[in-house]
Amino acid sequence: MALMRIVHYPEPVLLTVGKPVGDGEFGADLERTVADMFDTMRDAGGVGLAAPQVGLSQRFFVMDVAKEGQPDPQVFINPEIMSVEGEQIGDEGCLSFPGLYQSVKRDMRVIVRAQDVKGELIERDLTDLAARCVLHETDHCDGIVFLDRMTALKRELAKRKIKHLQKTGKWE
Ligand SMILES: [Zn+2]
Repeated sequence: MALMRIVHYPEPVLLTVGKPVGDGEFGADLERTVADMFDTMRDAGGVGLAAPQVGLSQRFFVMDVAKEGQPDPQVFINPEIMSVEGEQIGDEGCLSFPGLYQSVKRDMRVIVRAQDVKGELIERDLTDLAARCVLHETDHCDGIVFLDRMTALKRELAKRKIKHLQKTGKWE
């Protein structure tokens, strides 16, 4: 098990659009990185982790939104949101914003296309937490953080809380 360093806001890689993973980049190195990202995500107690969060400016992420207590690891490489429907409002956290939880409005259902770790095309139709997670992580691939999805008021409150966490040494 190899843990990677999770970068925290406002490191620039989190605010940069990731590069698509090219056909020639699939293979053993990518598979190892994905395995390390799963280890890192689980160790940190998260349900999703995108490449920019471990300092890689690329468009892919891992997630595991356990179903009825059963692990359900999924990898999305070059994710594209094809359609969305409905809405959900709920608290959201992010491993790059340690200790910050804030209410964010998201679509209730998403259809996402991507490639799996072998490069095969996949399409998933997801709802609820899985949809929220795919939207949050696809945003990371595009240099967008959940702060950007909050209302202006909540964003100001969140920024104040971040400053406080930084001052008290709880934000590395
Ligand atoms: Zn995040």
